[in-house]
Amino acid sequence: MKLSQRITHMTGGGSDGWDVFYRARRLISEGHPITELTIGEHDIRTDETILNAMDISARQGNTGYAMVPGTDLLRDTVAARIQARTGVKTTRHNVLITPGGQSALFAAHVAVCDPGDIGLYLDPYYATYPGTIRGAGATAQAIQTSAADAFQPRAEDIDTAADGAVSLLINTPNNPTGVVYSQQTLEGIAEVCRKRDLWLISDEVYDTQVWEGTHISPRTLLDMAERTLVVGSMSKSHAMTGSRCGWVVGPEEVISHLINLATHTTYGVPGFIQDAASFALNAGSDFEEEIAAPFRRRRALAVDILASQNTIGLVPAQGAMYLMLDIRSTGMSGEGFANTLLDTHAIAVMPGESFGQAAAGHVRVAMTIEDDRFAAALKTICDFATGLAESHAAE
Ligand code: PMP
Repeated sequence: MKLSQRITHMTGGGSDGWDVFYRARRLISEGHPITELTIGEHDIRTDETILNAMDISARQGNTGYAMVPGTDLLRDTVAARIQARTGVKTTRHNVLITPGGQSALFAAHVAVCDPGDIGLYLDPYYATYPGTIRGAGATAQAIQTSAADAFQPRAEDIDTAADGAVSLLINTPNNPTGVVYSQQTLEGIAEVCRKRDLWLISDEVYDTQVWEGTHISPRTLLDMAERTLVVGSMSKSHAMTGSRCGWVVGPEEVISHLINLATHTTYGVPGFIQDAASFALNAGSDFEEEIAAPFRRRRALAVDILASQNTIGLVPAQGAMYLMLDIRSTGMSGEGFANTLLDTHAIAVMPGESFGQAAAGHVRVAMTIEDDRFAAALKTICDFATGLAESHAAE
């Protein structure tokens, strides 16, 4: 039987740099002791107090269908949080609660892209981006950023790519690079969006993980609230990846249509999960800082370790739970480096090539194991790279 193009063409075929990840997972399942630095998942579980709130809510009977747009309580809580952080007036009518940030990314693209429209995204990119745009029926078109610019996108490159495009997807703090977009970068992006009449889809799921600089939501920039859809999530900020709770924040009209989409796709998010999320958000910024603290610590450890060598370059590690290491001086591709590292030292990292072409010759390291093991693994990676670079130089 024939399947739809939409489903069969969602992801590109061929090797996509994820082989090393699947190999690491297989080795782990076979009992090999692999140091796993691939995926962005905390090494802690959801906090006991949040689980209690979830339990109480479920036992009080919140196990039936919840309100499709989200409970009033959670929509109000998200709106208040966003307004407090940005100063932009936000009410529950600007908020749709979704099953995680991923579903919010999909919903945002469905809201603004018609079949055949171009949805822009920036390379390197979070793995699901092109498939999400294609899944929404649009054509996904990447814009390259460059290691030489520390992966800050250039407004002129977006402008050049904007013919036929209806949307631009950005992510700051960024996965996979760890870069936080500067005010200048965001002003440039906003100017192109206004000039070329683009929707801006702003993935801010790492907004509580900022180590250097300031997170700026582009919704705060001149005339941008009317054309920006912000994607948020409880996953990273509150270690609630498995709870699947996120949101889209945008103009009321967009949200009213997205409620229709939610009615016909997800039919909402479980009430007890939403109550747990409301509880977690009301625990305040100290709690969020506690969740972010291990990554802040490991990032500081990494900066020290990397300062004592000069083979590996560190892309400015300004936010999120990853380090992007420039290993081009070894003469290897990110894929070659990651595969050899796994074979010889049982350490699994992601090749830069898994996130597009712009991060070739890099590897992404997730800071998701306890400090001592993390520091030891990073030292091993440095020694390994130094050995490779010396042989490369002698070739
Ligand atoms: N955006 C980015 C940049 C991510 O890294 C992730 C998860 N790794 C998501 C969105 C989706 O997160 P979730 O669906 O768990 O909210």
